Amino acid sequence: MTTTRFAPSPTGYIHVGNLRTALMNYLIARKAGGTFILRIDDTDPERSKEEYVDAIKQDLEWLGLHWDRVERQSDRLDRYAEAADKLREMGRFYEAFETPTELDLKRKKQLNMGKPPVYDRAALNLSDAEKEALRAERGNGVWRFKLDHERIEWNDGILGDISIDAASVSDPVLIRGDGQVLYTIASVVDDTEMGVTDVVRGSDHVTNTATQIQIIEALGGTCPRFAHHSLLTGPQGEALSKRLGTLALRDLREQGVQPMALLSLMARLGSSDPVELRSDMAELIDGFDIGRFGAAPTKFDVQDLFPLTAKHLQSLPLADVADAVADAGVPTELAEPFWAMARENITTLADLKGWWELCRDGAEPLIADEDREFIAEAVALLPEGPFDGETWGQWTSAVKEATGRKGKGLFMPLRKALTGMERGPEMAALLPLLQVIRARG
Ligand code: GLU
Repeated sequence: MTTTRFAPSPTGYIHVGNLRTALMNYLIARKAGGTFILRIDDTDPERSKEEYVDAIKQDLEWLGLHWDRVERQSDRLDRYAEAADKLREMGRFYEAFETPTELDLKRKKQLNMGKPPVYDRAALNLSDAEKEALRAERGNGVWRFKLDHERIEWNDGILGDISIDAASVSDPVLIRGDGQVLYTIASVVDDTEMGVTDVVRGSDHVTNTATQIQIIEALGGTCPRFAHHSLLTGPQGEALSKRLGTLALRDLREQGVQPMALLSLMARLGSSDPVELRSDMAELIDGFDIGRFGAAPTKFDVQDLFPLTAKHLQSLPLADVADAVADAGVPTELAEPFWAMARENITTLADLKGWWELCRDGAEPLIADEDREFIAEAVALLPEGPFDGETWGQWTSAVKEATGRKGKGLFMPLRKALTGMERGPEMAALLPLLQVIRARG
């Protein structure tokens, strides 16, 4: 059965880049009728925070990306210790004592000699006595996984055939000197034991995948299918990493971005299919195909989310936005006609407030000198209330007849006088909502 997971480290809020990973894994699982696991990668006790775990869950819930179960790496430390023992027994795990400064020096030397900066495995030559001495002096060493120096190959769901020479990669550290288990081994143990069949993540993980494939094989597991999506850049192709903080999902939510707009964009951005606003999750699932995504960096422009949000809102019935309409101050009995008037004139729900204020308080009339007389005549012709959808038509016909004005010369001065703006909602829908006029009529 298809099983995927989204595996954030709870060290911060999730952003659009993480969302891409979450969404792809979610859609693959749902499309196959499989399982989607939320895995909290919290083996780093210092940087992992409970508030971020909660925030990640809230953000996913807001988007409707429901998980089938939650797993936490901090609950599974004994499993990782077992795997580490197994690797030790196999002779694939060795302790190394270089300090970060020493490692840095080695790297610089290699680079100076035109060699790739790969760990030289000096620790493999340490005798037991030497290790004992180093341990006494420096404390416990790190544990590195001894890669087999052969080519590591896989067929990537997005990048196609990948082949990496293991000799060009440093033996990865899987356990730190302080005993902290690193994600590289924890993830392998989890993916294997939880039956994860598909791993989609960012292309910054390609080298990890190469080493993880060897670790999986060493532990006797089955490799999942891997797919690495391209990284997001800003609209001009600039690195997004520094801005990701401002592209946190909760900030987008604050700005009024609608989940369906965000999901629709993310499910297609970087693929050969066009971005289309989807009306619900079922449509997103149906229209998703990981094979359509390409390796090139994907440009992301936060501004693209707003037209999609506006379009999504336009499609909604009052029932879906009733709370927001009420929050804008609209009385329940006017909610229906108000929404019908406003829906095509908002970008986010926050704009409702402005339209309601116009309805409630009226606007500073915008009347050109040459229109003063015309407006006075028109006001005199305003029918008695109550107003409805027909009133505007009846009124403007009467004004047209009385003044001889027509077209723009008729409608625009009236619009400007009533709303203080040259553009806005359908006047026929707005007029019955203008409380000042109602009170007067
Ligand atoms: N915790 C890892 C990360 O956030 C998970 C990567 C993976 O999906 O395997 O980068």
